[in-house]
Amino acid sequence: MKYVDEFRDPHKARLLIQRIEALVARNPVCRRRPLQLMEVCGGHTHSIFKYGIEQLLPREIELVHGPGCPVCVLPMGRVDDGVALAEHPNIIFTTFGDAMRVPGSRKSLMQAKAEGADVRMVYSPMDALALARDHPDREVVFFALGFETTMPSTALTVLRAEAEGLDNFAVFCNHITIIPTLKAILDSPEMTLDGFLGPGHVSMVIGNAPYAFIARHYGKPLVVSGFEPLDILQSIWMVMKQLDEGRCEVQNQYQRVVPEAGNAAALQAVQRVFQLREFFEWRGLGSIDHSGVRLRDAYARFDAERKYSVPNLRIADPKACQCGEVLKGAIKPSQCKVFGTACTPETPLGSLMVSSEGACAAVYRYGRLDLVDVLGEGQP
Ligand code: SF4
Repeated sequence: MKYVDEFRDPHKARLLIQRIEALVARNPVCRRRPLQLMEVCGGHTHSIFKYGIEQLLPREIELVHGPGCPVCVLPMGRVDDGVALAEHPNIIFTTFGDAMRVPGSRKSLMQAKAEGADVRMVYSPMDALALARDHPDREVVFFALGFETTMPSTALTVLRAEAEGLDNFAVFCNHITIIPTLKAILDSPEMTLDGFLGPGHVSMVIGNAPYAFIARHYGKPLVVSGFEPLDILQSIWMVMKQLDEGRCEVQNQYQRVVPEAGNAAALQAVQRVFQLREFFEWRGLGSIDHSGVRLRDAYARFDAERKYSVPNLRIADPKACQCGEVLKGAIKPSQCKVFGTACTPETPLGSLMVSSEGACAAVYRYGRLDLVDVLGEGQP
């Protein structure tokens, strides 16, 4: 298929792997330990497993799966809050499909729906707004999730609701921001990362400048990366090249999509509607300062947390669940004690097994992929 096949070319993949191998052979760190590169985005994690990229790389490169899957990092307490809203008799609770199966401490939204709550799957916040228009006698709440990638569409929907005077629409806001989270990872005492593959979709909105501190203050290279196999391999090669040349910069591999300065109109809408929260709870990572947003006071009437009472409890993950350790890169998904037994995509115990961008779901689904399927005969 045009525009996709050229980013999956096996011949070019082999050439990139050879170049990466040559840089690995010259890197003194690789003689002592594997180089750890974190792919920040869940979309990268999915592609890495889908195309067997980990197996293609020299074993001196270890990919660490980062926190960039918004469904995966949603803490149990926020799922419980969503379920509490959904069980409100007059509320139509709208959500993206993958959030429906994330386990809460009592039940998931899917289970709440099975028990009679009016939970509906939508593809965008505008779909939720349309429901509010069609059901003026009901309250419609949109479960807003995601990083800066999805924030603009929520912001624009709130502005549209305001313009139309639709007061039966509200947002349960769980939008999160990537930069404070990367800083928290870099400040962690266990931090052993050597470089980053930056998130392509988030960067499309925020541009490349916000990552400059990672190169400047922490001395780690970051390459904003696309999601196709050649994008990821080229980005890994670009990080390795920086390390080889003693450079430390923010580079943009995904130039066909990510403008250097981001999307000014999207950022303006986000700035107008949202303000930073003092802190936000992340599954597995704990509370991170200024890592989430809420609606500004001017839009309080569209804020489900101010319009309705939500329990707002902090709920610890089940004891057997090791999502936090996977999210921090301390263990691989298959090393979790319940991987593939008590926790499967059909019966997820942790959130990393729910979304297609979750590391556990990706390993479960693609873990046994044969390299021949990826590169054909004669792979390196
Ligand atoms: S296997 Fe399940 S419980 Fe274990 S880390 Fe993965 S999602 Fe979490």
